[in-house]
Amino acid sequence: PMKQRLLVVANRLPVSAVRRGEDSWYLEVSAGGLVSALLGVKDVDARWIGWAGVNVPDEVGQRALTKALAEKRCIPVFLDEEIAHQYYNGYCNNILWPLFHYLGLPQEDRLATTRSFQSQFDSYKRANKMFADVVNKHYQEGDVVWCHDYHLMFLPKCLKEYNSKMKVGWFLHTPFPSSEIHRTLPSRSELLRSVLAADLVGFHTYDYARHFVSACTRILGLEGTPEGVEDQGKLTRVAAFPIGIDSDRFKRALELPAVREHINELTHRFAGRKVMLGVDRLDMIKGIPQKILAFEKFLEENPSWRDRVVLLQIAVPTRTDVPEYQKLTSQVHEIVGRINGRFGTLTAVPIHHLDRSLDFHALCALYAVTDVALVTSLRDGMNLVSYEFVACQGSKKGVLILSEFAGAAQSLGAGALLVNPWNITEVAASIGYALNMSPDEREKRHRHNYAHVTTHTAQDWAETFVSELNDTVVEAQLRT
Ligand code: UDP
Repeated sequence: PMKQRLLVVANRLPVSAVRRGEDSWYLEVSAGGLVSALLGVKDVDARWIGWAGVNVPDEVGQRALTKALAEKRCIPVFLDEEIAHQYYNGYCNNILWPLFHYLGLPQEDRLATTRSFQSQFDSYKRANKMFADVVNKHYQEGDVVWCHDYHLMFLPKCLKEYNSKMKVGWFLHTPFPSSEIHRTLPSRSELLRSVLAADLVGFHTYDYARHFVSACTRILGLEGTPEGVEDQGKLTRVAAFPIGIDSDRFKRALELPAVREHINELTHRFAGRKVMLGVDRLDMIKGIPQKILAFEKFLEENPSWRDRVVLLQIAVPTRTDVPEYQKLTSQVHEIVGRINGRFGTLTAVPIHHLDRSLDFHALCALYAVTDVALVTSLRDGMNLVSYEFVACQGSKKGVLILSEFAGAAQSLGAGALLVNPWNITEVAASIGYALNMSPDEREKRHRHNYAHVTTHTAQDWAETFVSELNDTVVEAQLRT
């Protein structure tokens, strides 16, 4: 039988495009989680629709890029610069991102943002319509359309207006906040209603799904049922689909000679010291200052550990043009400098802080040599770093200290040490507990997490969502 076609719609295509000439493009496919998840889904034929990350104002360039992308099964959406700015930097990243992570608007431009809210939301809707146009142009009967993330909350409604028979799913990769937070959004109702146009709405955790249903009942006055949200007999199915990782990809990487060698180097380099690891985008939601302050408290209270432990913090730069993020960067640098000044010696410092990303193999080696991983997100949709660490700990069986505010706490809670990242005393105590943990307890906790991470993969996640979407549509047809 012919495979079912899956149109994956996300803000960004999984490809970076660099222009080489008037009609020539260089493409690099990113091997990230979502791509390998969807490659692994059996019986579907996936294509991607999204923005290529570059502004292409001229038709020659657009035509050439479209042609080059087609070979990678990608279809570009071209947004003009002004709309892209208002939609992406404005509404998505300055309004929805902070709100969904309980951060509120940045204090200094709160009023400016409030004033420009409507125009940003208009651009957001306009951008979503442009995505919808491209989907509509490529849609064939029977296709499944899977919309991703907070960038595209307006898309399900646009798609259903084109064609009410289209099978439409929407998945949110961030938390969905309490309805008390969502209801501060001026566009609260319109956003909820457009998401509800989808057949299936998915979240990482049961809590996020419940928050969404509450928002629909309290703000829209609709009926929440165990299945989802009902509006005049029409059901939108709402459920939790916790994402996973391609754990085999990590296990395979650890077998490569180059990675083995790197592991040996690192082991040698940090001999006599326990290695603690943080890997985060340098974002407010990751609680990096809180993490480092907790580590300082631990060193303060445990002099005997000062020359026997090192914290490696990889802080991947993100949104470096935004003042809030620049401020966070210098704040972190200041704290790290103070602690290294305070507890360092002529030959060693307690914190190695890197403002850059690592390639996949270097990251795997780092995960493998770590004794204690420290994830202190103040809010985090899932947090894949915690999963990746566990996948690479097959032989070491290190400890995961994990924020209870990361979605991953719902799935790795049994094996990890859960902490409230705001409580520095508690995190410092957990660091001590983790470093002193008996091999027996480490083994038992690791086994829990490892079993979860290796059996709840990204492929399973994608497969479950798509098959649930197909089922939901069949059930809806049976009801009418
Ligand atoms: N990552 C990376 N290079 C780095 C550090 C991290 O590619 O130098 C990847 C990491 O492997 C993980 C992702 O970035 O897959 C971070 O995902 P997570 O869910 O933890 O947080 P997000 O950044 O999506 O908020």
